[in-house]
Amino acid sequence: MKIAVLSRNENLYSTRRLKEAGEARGHEVDIIDTLHCYMDITKSRPAVRYHGKELPYYDAVIPRIGASITFYGTAVVRQFEMMGTFCVNESVAISRSRDKLRALQLLSRKDVGLPRTGFANKPDNIKDLIKNVGGAPVVIKLLEGTQGIGVVLADTDKAAESIIEAFMGLKANILVQEFIEEASGADIRCFVVGSKVVAAMKRQGAEGEFRSNLHRGGTAELIRLTKEERATAVNAAKVMGLNICGVDILQSKNGPVVMEVNSSPGLEGIEVATGKDIGDLIFEFIEANAKPNNTKTKGK
Ligand code: ADP
Ligand code: GLU
Repeated sequence: MKIAVLSRNENLYSTRRLKEAGEARGHEVDIIDTLHCYMDITKSRPAVRYHGKELPYYDAVIPRIGASITFYGTAVVRQFEMMGTFCVNESVAISRSRDKLRALQLLSRKDVGLPRTGFANKPDNIKDLIKNVGGAPVVIKLLEGTQGIGVVLADTDKAAESIIEAFMGLKANILVQEFIEEASGADIRCFVVGSKVVAAMKRQGAEGEFRSNLHRGGTAELIRLTKEERATAVNAAKVMGLNICGVDILQSKNGPVVMEVNSSPGLEGIEVATGKDIGDLIFEFIEANAKPNNTKTKGK
């Protein structure tokens, strides 16, 4: 098959691994810089142009859309969908999961465990907002944050109030969330391909750090999931409509809760921690599913 990886940087581990894994299975894999694509939006013949030429038809596209280019990146993915190309993650699903609030709202409708979360716009009921998620300690999160930046732990109601006021003063969108203390600075990254968790790792934050992000100095190790954790990850992926994603789960005293679903999960951490060839599994999935016009993005 002819497959494109949409990525801003061909030297990233995940991008390189995808190319290698696809080629090892006999596919032709092109790495296309998302921001250099431009779109020809015309009646009945949508196309994507790149470096002055129309791109050939791809059987599948693997979007790796970073948070900073969500708007343009999802537009490029959508254009491929309009051309009938099978996009491993659809544009709508990427947008849905990228917005933490939208994702939690959609998950809350289904039977997926979540940390109790509040969202507000005007600062006139901050006290109730804090009380409603169980009172301090609470976690306050910037809606647009990634890699643990913009995730703050407030130990007291007073501290929570000032942090919320400060963020709101800056017109930043924030979530206020129950702090899952019993997770002890660890979370579980479940890597989902299709409707299966193909690998999982437990990430532990650095000493004295409640955030377990590897970018913040956390460490990762292989973990065996419980049935409930596995089902939670698979359900969350399904609600988001993502075929390939990383579902981040906290082990709470009431069972697994989903923090977020990542539509461009990195391969390095999980391949190193689990020794699994995730790239290969992704192409196996593509081989079984890449049929023209196999997309649910129908303009709704
Ligand atoms: P990001 O998208 O920036 O990684 P997350 O929402 O995943 O932000 O939060 C970063 C880390 O902070 C998580 O991996 C987790 O370890 C910790 N964390 C986030 N929310 C909570 C919470 N409600 N309770 C306990 N720990 C949390
Ligand atoms: N029908 C909506 C969509 O596919 C689902 C709601 C949402 O994703 O926010 O976009």
